[in-house]
Amino acid sequence: MSVPAVIQAIRQAEAAAGRPAGSVKLVAVSKGHSPVQIQESILSHGHFPLAENRGQELRDKKLALPDAEWHFIGPIQRNKIKYLAGVSLIHTIEEVWQAQALAEAAQKWGHAPEVLLQVHNGETQKHGMPPAALPSLLREVQATGLTVRGLMVMAPYDQPQAAEQIFRDTAERAHQLGLSELSMGMSGDFPQAIAAGATLVRVGRSLFA
Ligand SMILES: *Cc1c(COP(=O)(O)O)cnc(C)c1O
Repeated sequence: MSVPAVIQAIRQAEAAAGRPAGSVKLVAVSKGHSPVQIQESILSHGHFPLAENRGQELRDKKLALPDAEWHFIGPIQRNKIKYLAGVSLIHTIEEVWQAQALAEAAQKWGHAPEVLLQVHNGETQKHGMPPAALPSLLREVQATGLTVRGLMVMAPYDQPQAAEQIFRDTAERAHQLGLSELSMGMSGDFPQAIAAGATLVRVGRSLFA
């Protein structure tokens, strides 16, 4: 696929789910691709937020592509928070200390990223908060001063059937918590995520294939 083909598939999935066109945003996962490839394959088609999962790689690409908007979708490590300066949205808060460290760094940067809480999917994934812990995590993260926009979940790789229930459960949890953004769906399962209510789909492989 390519960016236009993925956008078309997103619009089709929105329509099939009876959702308004444009209610789902493409987050272009650029990990593993060079700035030149990112420019050619993604940015030449429009302004899409780019997402990386490693701090140093993010920092280096941000220098090479200074006008792009950046998201972070990787595990947050204390000694790598410094590389997240300038990021607009962090999808992967799973513990309170991460939000505290981020809020502290944001003071120095003079701007704070918005955040999503990553939910454990109940299966093989090692990352994410157990759903039962979400209400207290949400309160504690909000207490750091960061703005929590929503939830993020990763389904087991390329198992769209199993993914569907995980997406529906996550959408229900976001609704209960009063959170509006839902980051879910990757190349192998974004139509299912859109059917369940995703507002941000994190697509990588399909954009460069
Ligand atoms: C790599 C990655 C993606 C994109 O996955 P694709 O299968 O390449 O579309 C999405 N989310 C996270 C957290 C990732 O690490």
